[in-house]
Amino acid sequence: MGHCNARARERICPDSGMAHVVRTGVAENLWVCIDCGGRQPAEGSCIGCQHEMTLDTRDEQVRELMRDVDERLARQRESRYRFLGVLVGMTVIFGAWMVPGYWGLRGRLYPGLPIFADQWIFMALIGLGLSKVLDKYVGKKRFPYLDLNLKIVD
Ligand SMILES: [Zn+2]
Repeated sequence: MGHCNARARERICPDSGMAHVVRTGVAENLWVCIDCGGRQPAEGSCIGCQHEMTLDTRDEQVRELMRDVDERLARQRESRYRFLGVLVGMTVIFGAWMVPGYWGLRGRLYPGLPIFADQWIFMALIGLGLSKVLDKYVGKKRFPYLDLNLKIVD
C-alpha cells in the first residue's frame, strides 16, 4: 500500500480494494439529526422527523455524541434482547416439560445434571442464541455511516 495514502487512494489506486467508497452525498449532507440519524444539506430542523435542530458533522464533538448515542442504544437493545431471550428460553423449555417423552431423553440423549442444571443451561443457550440473532438482524444503528474512528464513511 506504501505509495497510496488514504486521501489519494481512491483516485490513484482504485483497485486497492481498501478504499472507502465515498459517495458524493457525504460532502453535501453535513447536517445530522441526533434524534433520527437523518442527514441533510442545510442547518435547521430535521426534514425527516421534525426535530427542531440538526448538528454539524464536521464538529468532532458532534461525531462523539453520535457514537455515544449509538452505544447507548446498543446497550438498551442488548438488554431488551437478553430479556426477551430469557423469556423465550424459559417458555420453550417449560413447554418441552409438558411434551410426553421429553424427560425420557434426559440421561439418554444428554446427561441429566443435578438441580436440573441441564434444563437451565438449555434455557440460557436458547436465550443467548436468540439475543445474538436479534442483535444481528434486527439491531440497527442510528448512525451506520459513522465508523469506529469517528469518520463519516458513507
Ligand atoms: Zn430527525
